[in-house]
Amino acid sequence: MVIQKPRVFTPIECNGEISYIESLMCHKKVYVKSFGCQMNKLDTALVTSALEDAGFSFTPSVKEADVVLINTCSVRDHAEQRVLSHLGHLKHMKRSRPDLVVGVIGCMAQRLGDRLLEHEAVNIVCGPAEIPQISDFVAKAVQDRQKALAVTERIRHKGSQQQSQALEEFESVYGIENEQIPAQAFVRVMRGCNNFCSYCVVPYVRGPEVSRSPEAIIEQIRKLAEHGVKQVTLLGQRVNSYKYKHGGKIWSLADLLEAAGDIAGIEWLRFVTSYPSEEFFDQIIEVMAGSPKVCEYLHMPAQSGSDRILKAMNRNYTSRWYLELLERARQIVPEIAIAGDFIVGFPGESEEDFQATVNLLEKARYKNTFVFKYSPRPGTNSDKRLTDTVAAKVKQRRNVELLAVQERISDELSRQFLNREVKVLVEGLSKKPHLNMADAGDNPQLVARTAGDWIVVFNGPESLTGKFANVKIESASPLTLFGRPI
Ligand code: SF4
Repeated sequence: MVIQKPRVFTPIECNGEISYIESLMCHKKVYVKSFGCQMNKLDTALVTSALEDAGFSFTPSVKEADVVLINTCSVRDHAEQRVLSHLGHLKHMKRSRPDLVVGVIGCMAQRLGDRLLEHEAVNIVCGPAEIPQISDFVAKAVQDRQKALAVTERIRHKGSQQQSQALEEFESVYGIENEQIPAQAFVRVMRGCNNFCSYCVVPYVRGPEVSRSPEAIIEQIRKLAEHGVKQVTLLGQRVNSYKYKHGGKIWSLADLLEAAGDIAGIEWLRFVTSYPSEEFFDQIIEVMAGSPKVCEYLHMPAQSGSDRILKAMNRNYTSRWYLELLERARQIVPEIAIAGDFIVGFPGESEEDFQATVNLLEKARYKNTFVFKYSPRPGTNSDKRLTDTVAAKVKQRRNVELLAVQERISDELSRQFLNREVKVLVEGLSKKPHLNMADAGDNPQLVARTAGDWIVVFNGPESLTGKFANVKIESASPLTLFGRPI
C-alpha cells in the first residue's frame, strides 16, 4: 500500500472561468510539541516527516503556526496535565485566530478520545495506531475546520490487516534518520505491551504486543546506514520480548542484533527498554559480549525493591531474582552499564518497603536511575483496586532520598573513568558551547556518549558532530565525564 499525499485544490480565475489547481500546503506552518518516551519521539519524527512530505513547513513558534500538533503521553498524570494546560492557552489563542488548527495525537488521544474532541481548542484527535492518516486529517481540517476523531475502537484486539499494513508502510516509508542527533536513528521493532503492570496505561493505549518482521527492520536499518546513520537504537516497550516467526525459526532480539550488526556502516546498536525476564536474556547478553557493535548498556527497570509491592505491581519477579539477573549480565559482560527506573509511593508502600528499594538500588549499582512518584492512571488495575495511600510529601521525600543514593553510586562509578581513554559518538554542541573555548583553540564545547551511555563533554571542532572520537577523561561528576580529545 502506498501512502497518499493529501491533495489540495486551489481555485484560480482565468478569463472569467474558475478552475482548480492542485497545490501543496507549503504556505501552512506547523508547530509540533512532543511529550513522553522515546517511542513518542519516534512517532513525532514520523508524523513530522509525513507532513513535510505533504508540503507543510515547520515553525518553532506557536504564534506563527497555522497548525499546532501535540503528541501526548498518558503514563503519568503530570504529563496529561501539562497537555491540558497547553490546550487552555490554545483555546484563548483560537478566540483571536479561529483558523488555527489544533491536533492531539498519541496516548492521551487514544485514552480520552471524544472527550478530548469536545475541548474548545481541539480539531483533531488521533490515537497512535491511526497516525498514518495524520496528514490527511490535518489537510482536511485546514480546509474545512471540521473536527475529526480517529482512535482504535477495540485497542486490545489485534488490529486489522489493513491497519497493520498502513502502520508498517508509515514506519518504513517515513523511516528517516533522527534529525536532532546526526548519525543516530531509532527503529521500532515492536508495538504495544502484554504485561499489564498494574499501574501502567500503555497496554490500554498502545494495544497488544506486535513484533515487526525482521526483514522490514533490517531493510530499514540498511537504508539508514546508507544515509550515514552509525548508531541505531531498537525500540520496544518490552524490547527483549521481541519474537517473530520467519524463515522456519523464531527470531528474538538477539537474532535481530546479530543481523543488524552485519550491516556495513552501522557501528553501534542499542536497545530499550528491557523487562526483567528469563526469556532470551542470556542470548541477548551473549550477543552483546560477542559483538563489538552491540553497546554494553542495559536499561532494565526494577520499579521497586519490595517483593510485596512488586507483586502488587504485577511485575512477576522478586528483588532477589532481579539482582541475580543483573549478576548474570555482569558475569557475561563485566563492563556492562545498567540503568534503572523506580516508582516511589505506590499504594501501600511502607517505610520498610521503601527501604527494600534503597537496598536494591545499593546492590544493583546502576549507572543512573529514573525515579517517578506514583500517580494513579484511570482504567489501570492499581487505580481500580488500590487506594493511593502515600501522601504527596512522603512520595517527594522518598524520591529525593532515592536520587541521593543514586547520585553517590553514580559518582563512585564515574570516577572509575578518570585518566582513561573512552570512545564516544559526538552528538553536537553542548548546552554551553562557549565554555572553555579560550583554552581549547576556540573550539566549542561538545557533548557525546560512550557505548555505556555515559555523557562526555569536551572541547573540539564542531565538525566532529556525528563522528566517533577518543577522549581522555580528566574529571567526572555523577552524570557527566569531562575530558580532552586525543
Ligand atoms: S512492561 Fe509494564 S510498565 Fe512497561 S509498558 Fe508494559 S505494562 Fe507498562
